[in-house]
Amino acid sequence: MSTDLRVGIGYDSHRLVQGRKLTIGGVEIPFDKGLSGHSDGDILFHALTDALLGAAGLGDIGHYFPPSDPKWKDADSEVFLAHARQLLEDNGYRIVNVDVVIGLERPKVGPHRDAIRKNVARVLGIEMGRVGLKAKTAEGLGPVGEGSVAEARVVALIERG
Ligand code: MG
Repeated sequence: MSTDLRVGIGYDSHRLVQGRKLTIGGVEIPFDKGLSGHSDGDILFHALTDALLGAAGLGDIGHYFPPSDPKWKDADSEVFLAHARQLLEDNGYRIVNVDVVIGLERPKVGPHRDAIRKNVARVLGIEMGRVGLKAKTAEGLGPVGEGSVAEARVVALIERG
C-alpha cells in the first residue's frame, strides 16, 4: 500500500486596529484592538485554509472567497476553513497534522492556546493532538513588535491512499 503525502504552507497577516475583535482560530481574545479585514480577519483560519488548499493543489483562499465579494464582509472565517476541509475530503485527502506559529506582540496567546487548538481540531474533524500552536513576540521589533500587525504561519500535512 502506498501513501500519497502532501505538505502545504500558509501565511497571513492583518492589521491590529481599534474597534475590531481579536479572533484567532475562532477564539475571541479580550484586547483593546482587533484584526482589520474584509472578513473577521482571523489570521490563523486564513493561513490554515491556504496551507490545506496548497497541500492538495486546490488553489488558495482568495480563489474561493474573493475579498471583492460583499458576501464575505465580516464573515466568520470558520466558513473558509470548513470549505477547505470539505474540498480535501471530496478529493480523498485526510489531514495528518497542522502546525501553527502566531506572531503577536500583545496580548499573550498562551492562556488561550488549548481553546484555540480544540476549536481548530473541531473544525478540521481531527484530534487536538494533531494541532500544534506556538506564539512568538517580535521583541519590540518591526510591525509585529510595534503591535500594528499580527501574523500566522502554518504548515499542514495531508495524505491520500
Ligand atoms: Mg486574511
